[in-house]
Amino acid sequence: MKDFIVAIDGPAGSGKSTISKIVAKKKGFTYLDTGAMYRMVTLATIKKNVNVENKEEIVDLLKNIKLNIEKDKFYLGNEDVSEEIRGVEVTSNVSKVAAIKEVREELVRLQREISQGKNVILDGRDIGTVVFPNAQLKVFLVASSEERAKRRVKEFESKGINISYQEVLDEIIKRDKMDSTREESPLLQAEDAVLVDTSSMSIDEVSNKIVELVDNLF
Ligand code: C5P
Repeated sequence: MKDFIVAIDGPAGSGKSTISKIVAKKKGFTYLDTGAMYRMVTLATIKKNVNVENKEEIVDLLKNIKLNIEKDKFYLGNEDVSEEIRGVEVTSNVSKVAAIKEVREELVRLQREISQGKNVILDGRDIGTVVFPNAQLKVFLVASSEERAKRRVKEFESKGINISYQEVLDEIIKRDKMDSTREESPLLQAEDAVLVDTSSMSIDEVSNKIVELVDNLF
């Protein structure tokens, strides 16, 4: 089968990318981290000293950058920015850049182009509602903000980065609010999405559940 699309949406830290990677590997699907694409545009904005509030300049900049994605590596032109896009500065500014209509249109176009002719699992905020409203399977992953913050702190710790729980929790709440209330493609559960609350589930439990959902349809 070709063109089988699995859409995984949900708020920051709900486990989307961890789960999507595992399911993609198990099923032999391509995995596309759409959040990383918004992060790359945000990083380019910061690197070029463009104010994240300056919509016109960001739209202009978008025409002059090339996003290259190879498996789990992300390149701005030839520069490997896979680590840098996860940094604090990008994280705290990405929601502003992601709210720009023209940025979304271009990235959605790219997401559809990359997915063409393949079986793909994409994670993001608007995959089931906007990018692939006809996806064969839609999942909406949620977890309490406290649990999501705890997971993020652990993730940072494993990379040797020390960050306070409160700082992470505040950032998650702020980002979710911006992503959910923006005018363009807000974070929203699609009507036909399966809701999975991962608060008290292990990574294995969540990924097994989604593999099962895929297997029932694929
Ligand atoms: O998933 P991740 O936390 O890397 O996403 C970073 C940001 O990119 C989100 O907070 C959101 O503002 C934006 N995003 C989006 N639509 C997507 C994926 C991410 O607006 N499909």
